Amino acid sequence: MSINSKQSVKCPQCGQMSDVTVWNSITVSDSPDLKTDLLAGKVNMFRCPSCSHTALMPTPMLYHDEAKRLMISFSPTNDPVLKQQLFDNVKNSSRESGELEKLIGYNLRFITDYNELLEKILIFDNGFNDKAIEVIKLMILSQDVDKSEQRICRFGKCENGSIEFMIHDFIENNIYTSSVPEDTYDKIYNSLIESGMKPYSFDWEVVDSSYATRLLNGFNNDL
Ligand SMILES: [Zn+2]
Repeated sequence: MSINSKQSVKCPQCGQMSDVTVWNSITVSDSPDLKTDLLAGKVNMFRCPSCSHTALMPTPMLYHDEAKRLMISFSPTNDPVLKQQLFDNVKNSSRESGELEKLIGYNLRFITDYNELLEKILIFDNGFNDKAIEVIKLMILSQDVDKSEQRICRFGKCENGSIEFMIHDFIENNIYTSSVPEDTYDKIYNSLIESGMKPYSFDWEVVDSSYATRLLNGFNNDL
């Protein structure tokens, strides 16, 4: 079930008060239109009716796609210490409530960045597993090691047997694209499965570049 609440928000820019609908939970099967709005970056985004200032609402949100067996817990924060605390809270409450036992065969993801949330949804919508995609993103960024720190690589789209990634360079202030054949994804995915990676979760997971680095170093999630 999709759940929302109304909040009165004071614009940090001009001080104008306005009402914002905040979504705490989105279930895709109930609310396909809401998913469209989310992918357009409109959900939980405050937009001041007076001065047009926009800002992400600091509200946690649960995204549930029953058909894809995907659940994403989104808690917006830039603070790495808080991120770890929130992640621990999600894991503990999911275990204590017995919810975890009901989510067998699910992919459970914990996310703190809005763009990353949208990227995850797109990856699973295209029928890919984000663990293999994160490994490919590492490989793309490692082609130019000197600049990998100043770049972010994101899944773009899949078309005509080719997966397109967008590479944003913050120093050069440029966006590049890089394409990888779908066959390459299949090979990487299969070799990760052979080496013990499970295509579903046993607990909430943060699947990012550090996760991909650990995967390449032989770590897997079947513990
Ligand atoms: Zn304003």
